Amino acid sequence: MLQIKNFIDGEFSSAISEEHLDDFNPATGEKIGHISSSDQRDVENAVKAAKDAFLDWSSLSMSERIDWLEKIANALESKKEEIAKIESMDTGKPISLARRVDANRSITNFRFFSQFAKQQESLEFEMSDAMNYVHRKPVGVVGLITPWNLPLYLLTWKIAPALVMGNTIVAKPSELTPLTANLFAKTLQEIDFPKGVFNIVNGLGPKAGQAILEHPEIKAISFTGGTQTGRIVAKTAAPLFKKLSLELGGKNATVILDDAELELAAKGAAKAGFTNSGQVCLCGSRILIDESIAEQFTELLIHEIESMKVGDPQNEETEIGSVISMQHLEKVENYIQLALDEGGQILTGGKRPQLDEINSNGAFLHPTVISGLKINSRTATEEIFGPVVTLHTFKDENEAIEMANSTDYGLAGSVWTKDLERGKEFSKQIDTGIMWVNTWLHRDLRTPFGGVKNSGVGREGGQWSLSFFSEMTNICVKYD
Ligand code: NDP
Repeated sequence: MLQIKNFIDGEFSSAISEEHLDDFNPATGEKIGHISSSDQRDVENAVKAAKDAFLDWSSLSMSERIDWLEKIANALESKKEEIAKIESMDTGKPISLARRVDANRSITNFRFFSQFAKQQESLEFEMSDAMNYVHRKPVGVVGLITPWNLPLYLLTWKIAPALVMGNTIVAKPSELTPLTANLFAKTLQEIDFPKGVFNIVNGLGPKAGQAILEHPEIKAISFTGGTQTGRIVAKTAAPLFKKLSLELGGKNATVILDDAELELAAKGAAKAGFTNSGQVCLCGSRILIDESIAEQFTELLIHEIESMKVGDPQNEETEIGSVISMQHLEKVENYIQLALDEGGQILTGGKRPQLDEINSNGAFLHPTVISGLKINSRTATEEIFGPVVTLHTFKDENEAIEMANSTDYGLAGSVWTKDLERGKEFSKQIDTGIMWVNTWLHRDLRTPFGGVKNSGVGREGGQWSLSFFSEMTNICVKYD
């Protein structure tokens, strides 16, 4: 049984309350760890450590901090397989996906921000009688709160820019998936990373997370999670005038125009719908299809989905693992029942698979496709965050745009067409932070990432992350 403790001031320690939570492997139902359940007292200690470490860390030169990022990346690279293995065990995602996406990207986040920070140039604005120098200062102690779907991937996406800009950190990973953050902390210990610069407080959101939000010495909060929690984060942090980045939920559309390359689009829509069992905020959970090609496209899509291998995440061939917990599985199944109540028809899936003994108690569901629902039904507008997509047809582009924009969310989407200019023009009319044309989850880390409407506030990625994790000040020097 793994013991997951807090990581404060470079040491692992139990929560002051000595209370624990259980960590389960959702693909087997097996209990795999005990996690410290922290409260405001542990957060206080972590903030103290981060504050004490701030002066030394922020006084390092940018190139010294860049060297640290590179050392972290190298140390993680040597543990790539271990990262993939425990991420798969903690989340139920296929090992191949954990290796390709989670482990790779966690390492890349450090490599990317170390390179990107190197390329930053100083900003100066000359006047006839003075020069303005834009100076970036670290914000101070920052709070990072992250979800369970891409645990180390999303945490390191925040850690790397926060560190390189000179901040110190108090982080709270999701209590459902604490293993890779714990491995990350061990890695920092092994490379003698300065104590107190990075701290982890494990535990429940409303207790440990809330204490981070409320702490007056934490000057910025970068939060990724659900829209409902995002509201609580905003409500708590705003009166304290904290900097706030909110990356929230989505109900993204995959739009198949009448001139789409259908086989490519069917593969793309299946990938967008079911990667990580539909538990990626960017997943395309509504597929909108031009009615003239709907029959042919749907046939190809169903074929694609039914050929996805569902099962043991540790099997290299598996494409769909379990969802995050039995509780989440039941929530997803309730949505399937709701879809039927709303008049939908299940075209494929909708059932738990029969799996071998080791996975017989796991939280598995066949990838599910539902048609016949109104575009404004609850099933088609609320975030399910599981392996369920709904199909809808449209008559023309205007109707497709209206349908794509018809939810409270605005995170991402994709459009499939042979005409790239048409795809680009279509994308401009969709109210989301990101649109892909003929692809999905194709990321250049320099680009802005974030949502509009209820999908978030602010942008991360490239210079947006560096700006969030720094305060820009202007120094105006008058000439003689
Ligand atoms: P939650 O909002 O439930 O939790 C996110 C994090 O917030 C967890 O660490 C959670 O802790 C913590 N938390 C919960 N309540 C509070 C609180 N009162 N104060 C401070 N922290 C709190 O999201 P999920 O973990 O369920 O993740 C799924 C959601 O995340 C989906 O909506 C998905 O779309 C979204 N998401 C968005 C992304 C984006 O980039 N826009 C990327 C990935 C996911 P605990 O786990 O202990 O409850």
